[in-house]
Amino acid sequence: MEGSSDIKTTSKGFHCALCNVNLPNMPSLEQHVKGRKHTTLSSVRATRKTQEEHSVFVSGIKPSITQTDIAEYFEQFGPVTEVIMDKDKGVYAIVQFGETESIQAALACVEHQMKGLKLRVKPREKREFKLIPKNKNDPKNLQQVLDRLKPELCQLASVDAQMQYVVERFQLGENEKKARGLLVNLLQEVFIEFFPDSQVLPFGSSVNMFGFHSCDLDLFLDLENTKVFQARAKSTSEQAMEGVSDDGHSEDSILSDIDLTTATPAEVLDLVAAILKRCVPSVHKVNVVSSARLPVVKFHHKELNLQGDITINNRLAVRNTRFLQLCSGMEERLRPLVYTIRYWAKQKQLAGNPSGAGPLLNNYALTLLIIFFLQNCDPPVLPTVDQLKDMACEEEHCVIEGWNCTFPSQPIAVPPSKNTQDLCSLLSGFFSFYAKFDFASSVISVREGRALPITHFLSINKEGVETEKEQPTKVPPSAPKLGPLNLLDPFELSHNVAGNLNERSQRSFQRECQEGEKYCRSLQYQHKSAKGKSWGLVRLFTPHGDVPLAKTEQLVITIPFKSASLSEGLCDHLRVVGDGFRLVWFEKVRSAVEEVLRNVLRCQVSSTDAVFGEGSAVDAAEEMETASASLNTSANDSCDSIECKSEASPVSTVVVGAKRPLSSGSDASVSPQGKRPRLPRRGKLDFPHWLCVQRHIVWAGRRKVRRELIKDADSSPEGSCAEMESQVTARIIEKEPELKEALEFKVVPQMMGGTENTRAVLKLELVSDKTGVFHDFFHFLEAFVPRMVETVLKKDGL
Ligand code: ATP
Ligand code: MG
Repeated sequence: MEGSSDIKTTSKGFHCALCNVNLPNMPSLEQHVKGRKHTTLSSVRATRKTQEEHSVFVSGIKPSITQTDIAEYFEQFGPVTEVIMDKDKGVYAIVQFGETESIQAALACVEHQMKGLKLRVKPREKREFKLIPKNKNDPKNLQQVLDRLKPELCQLASVDAQMQYVVERFQLGENEKKARGLLVNLLQEVFIEFFPDSQVLPFGSSVNMFGFHSCDLDLFLDLENTKVFQARAKSTSEQAMEGVSDDGHSEDSILSDIDLTTATPAEVLDLVAAILKRCVPSVHKVNVVSSARLPVVKFHHKELNLQGDITINNRLAVRNTRFLQLCSGMEERLRPLVYTIRYWAKQKQLAGNPSGAGPLLNNYALTLLIIFFLQNCDPPVLPTVDQLKDMACEEEHCVIEGWNCTFPSQPIAVPPSKNTQDLCSLLSGFFSFYAKFDFASSVISVREGRALPITHFLSINKEGVETEKEQPTKVPPSAPKLGPLNLLDPFELSHNVAGNLNERSQRSFQRECQEGEKYCRSLQYQHKSAKGKSWGLVRLFTPHGDVPLAKTEQLVITIPFKSASLSEGLCDHLRVVGDGFRLVWFEKVRSAVEEVLRNVLRCQVSSTDAVFGEGSAVDAAEEMETASASLNTSANDSCDSIECKSEASPVSTVVVGAKRPLSSGSDASVSPQGKRPRLPRRGKLDFPHWLCVQRHIVWAGRRKVRRELIKDADSSPEGSCAEMESQVTARIIEKEPELKEALEFKVVPQMMGGTENTRAVLKLELVSDKTGVFHDFFHFLEAFVPRMVETVLKKDGL
């Protein structure tokens, strides 16, 4: 068995390469080899090998060609045992012969003509049999799908044609749509038995014109009429005082157990789940998720291999689905753009969370971003939602849960756009638009078709009452949850549909847009390769992970301005200082960064002193005022970065992982707040930078130590998250030996962005890393520092 090429001996026992599992000893190995997984995979591999040796790969066919046509044609080279066509039929086929000699005969034929088509016949590629990871988003799987798409895309004549092809390739097929329709009918029939007069309404990508193959089936179970029915039945039965109502529904139906007017959504969904399990054939894996923003019952339909979601309070989603349908009907360029960008986002792992669970954009949010970009083209490709509202007639007036959801029901009511850009330039326009977009200080409003300043939303207080009387823009009555990407729903204006995104996912989105913008400027994007190389969309679709980041980008940590992560006191203060909020905020961030380095990560930190420009140094507080004013004018709009002139700075030091602060000369005891940037008259701001020394690997094994601490405390540890992290560091320092040679690096803080896109950027420069740990440390800091700064700012007592 050890002799088998699948089994390798390792330092920890054995490894089975076929099943990708480790086995600690001989008995477990023996058991594994006899087990189901290993035997099944072995036999699948043997079958694949036989198939490979007996088949050829055929391309150049068309959807009208059937398996029988192909079998009949290839019979001339020998008996054909099987023809496998791709799932969507019409792209390629694999023809399997009974005898290997037939392959030689087929390959020897110079030209294959069938029904007027010129077929290309190639030997099958010999692929190593590997267990495909279940995760569809695994970069290897994403690459495999792209590899299949590549030849087809490359042979098309233009990017526009490629984008149209992406629609063809990924859109829901007619059969899929029919099957979904039948399932909806079946569910309707079943539910009406239990919920008289209820309606099952599909929404989301199955019906919004942007559905991909095997996308989920979103359903809204509308129980409004059932409630009316129930109320009526109740009063009738009270009158009759009998066991059977005049509608003939007996008291012992499931429905009689639950009063829809008083039942909680969770109770109703439990009932929905029970009905699905018991009464709908082929449905399994039924789960109620009550914790979601909108509680949902999830199920899987075995035969259709379809994931379904049923919600009961989702009338707005049905309406926004209608809105997306309208947009697609108004503007034919929208579908190719949405399909292309959705596929791009999937490949780059930027989008794809169903219903906003997880930190990625969901497809609804991504589609709104595309619509917003199209509203902002010059001339606009799509009208704003407010404009659409004005185009609707009286009968189309629609208010749901207090939100105005009015728009015309037919695309014909909307005048066509004057914009004539082709798809190729709109796609590159999308990337440029979001590459530069100021996410940190804007709230995207598809309703108004413009970015609203985030400061307007800071003034909506907790009770939902506007504190400022005169608002330059309309603000919703309650505050949306602000985050790194703020995208208001077009109808439910207090809902940020991208509220689930975290810093990292927002940054990845923008970074990929920047990469996309760069690529779209290249010839490879715009011109078909004469040598058959990848061009146009193909390179854009390369899965995330294959494009290494530039080295300089890797040594920068960005902390964007995020109002949601500030304490209320600080928020109020920023409001008072108006547009000068940037500098005040940056000061706070600098202090927080220093605190994190010094107290949380126990770095030995020496900071440079502020450098004075040519102007006289006036009182720091006064300068803050001046800075606010000047930022408003020159610096804000013209210069993108305000940075520290580190070369000229007198240096003091920060050491990470030191048990004691560095000796005299270190300003470790100086309050970070004690240092204020000075504003020279010429408008250049200088901030101290830090020299840090790290003596311990404080970034490794933190999770384990954290768990230990929690266990020791026998409950959640006291104190803030920063205090907890500081204890984690302390325990690591206590237990782990010092690095042989301390790691030294410099952190240079900069304030970036003009009036827009305010962010603090920390540039890390390596001074000494004899033990080669800096790379790991940097990756840790990249995620850790922004998070910790956020918790420190949240605590800020200002
Ligand atoms: P896919 O299922 O292919 O990812 P989808 O558009 O169906 O795309 P879902 O996440 O399944 O996306 O959501 C279904 C529908 O629910 C959306 O089309 C939209 O109408 C509504 N929806 C989803 N997320 C939100 C949200 N964050 N805010 C408001 N409505 C949403
Ligand atoms: Mg969906």
